[in-house]
Amino acid sequence: MDRPWDERHPMSRDEMDRNGRPVLGDMPLHELRPAAHAVADWVSEYLDGVGAYPVLSRVRPGEVRGKLPLEIPEEGEPFEDMFKDFQTLLIPGVTHWNHPSFFAYFSVTGSAPGVLGEMLAAALNVNGMVWRGSPVVTELEELALAWLRDLLGLPGEFQGTINDTASSSSLYALAAAREAKLPEARKGGLGGLPGGRFYASEQAHSSIDKAVITLGFGLDGIRKIPTDSGFRMLPEELRRAIREDLGAGLRPLGVVATLGTTSTTSVDPVADLAGIAREFDLWLHVDAAYGGPAAAVPELRPLFSGWEMADSIVVNPHKWLFTPIDCSVLYMKDPEELRKAFSLTPEYLRTPEEDVARNLMDYGVALGRRFRSLKLWFVLRYFGARGIRERIRQHVEMARELASWIDATPGWERLAPVPFSTVVFRFAPEETPPGELDRINREIMDRVNETGELFISHTVLRGRFCLRMALGNLRTRWEHLDRAWELLQREARAARTA
Ligand code: PLP
Repeated sequence: MDRPWDERHPMSRDEMDRNGRPVLGDMPLHELRPAAHAVADWVSEYLDGVGAYPVLSRVRPGEVRGKLPLEIPEEGEPFEDMFKDFQTLLIPGVTHWNHPSFFAYFSVTGSAPGVLGEMLAAALNVNGMVWRGSPVVTELEELALAWLRDLLGLPGEFQGTINDTASSSSLYALAAAREAKLPEARKGGLGGLPGGRFYASEQAHSSIDKAVITLGFGLDGIRKIPTDSGFRMLPEELRRAIREDLGAGLRPLGVVATLGTTSTTSVDPVADLAGIAREFDLWLHVDAAYGGPAAAVPELRPLFSGWEMADSIVVNPHKWLFTPIDCSVLYMKDPEELRKAFSLTPEYLRTPEEDVARNLMDYGVALGRRFRSLKLWFVLRYFGARGIRERIRQHVEMARELASWIDATPGWERLAPVPFSTVVFRFAPEETPPGELDRINREIMDRVNETGELFISHTVLRGRFCLRMALGNLRTRWEHLDRAWELLQREARAARTA
């Protein structure tokens, strides 16, 4: 094959500069190429064989650091040495989120096309803070997020930007809410203004509380609304709380609806909440960080009915859309609201294109912007709309199958509905005292996790310790689910008699 770049060798250890000193610079091509090939081989084999690793890292705190030199080497080291240490010293400290039996928290996949996109983005190392910083960063982000918006069935007016995490996306959304609903705060801050209030269900993610604190409203700035038996926010309770706060002279600003809460993946009745937000002229933010991708599946779309009335929506492709962490999308119905909250352009960042092209630095706290859309675009292109729908549908099917096993097995109890792909349950054999149930279930979790074959996590619902299993990894097959259920039952028997 004709590979003219082979001949270029832009730098090599033997090269001298015009003063007769060795050329410094980066790793030379003759080292880089074999190293890159070795890494590419390792990555391919890792992704293919990740199921062979113990899913939960078995190291003890401090063990990884204890095996590594305390100081930087004076002389640079060959890549082979560090790559060997990566494999032998660092990999044991990895909990394998890409493992097919990773069922903890939210099960995710950094899919192969996404990993390839990430590798290329790292090589380009561009910063899309302003459009000219790399036009492709702004423009591919706009395009990929329009594709995703259409896939999820959101109206064309929504425009997105990519952030690192949903925690940042929600913070920015609530900052836009503050700007829109409490514009006086921009200049003078919150001092002297009536207390601002946001409303979210008692099941909302802690990132909402963090955002409210960070924006200066304090913990009193968030009021938690009770939920029904399925852990969904009660609209009448929301209305009552808003009225009460208005009566007390507070300033209601916004409502956060969660479509896929963290503990149980419950879905707040967003259409009703949107009606209430409108009635009181409040911002509506939708946290669909986990659940959002399911809107791609027609039969799941009704769960989202009404989300198009939101002012802002967060969806995390790095959760259930096969994109390597980090990639969180914030959709705004009116992106200008976000720009108003964050645009402050010093002279040295002024560019001639700023009136005709978006500068991503204007849509959040961060100035620098990674080329995150490349991995997302690769994922969307590689799997296609149908491939994504089918994969999400299969995860939901697996979760419902697991739920049906739990429902059908005496001694086991499901503790929440399963709208998506996460199942919350516990082992609750008859005549076991409630306090004992918590101990038994914690022990079941610890025991199955110790096997190294799977990793599950827990939550606490209405004071009860629950086991929690999330499906969402592209490599999870029915055999993995069968084995997980077998191990859970085996360890339940052992924990009961312990
Ligand atoms: N919102 C919900 C509903 C979540 O479940 C999570 C995390 O699990 C978050 C927000 C925070 O996500 P991130 O880690 O991207 O900040």
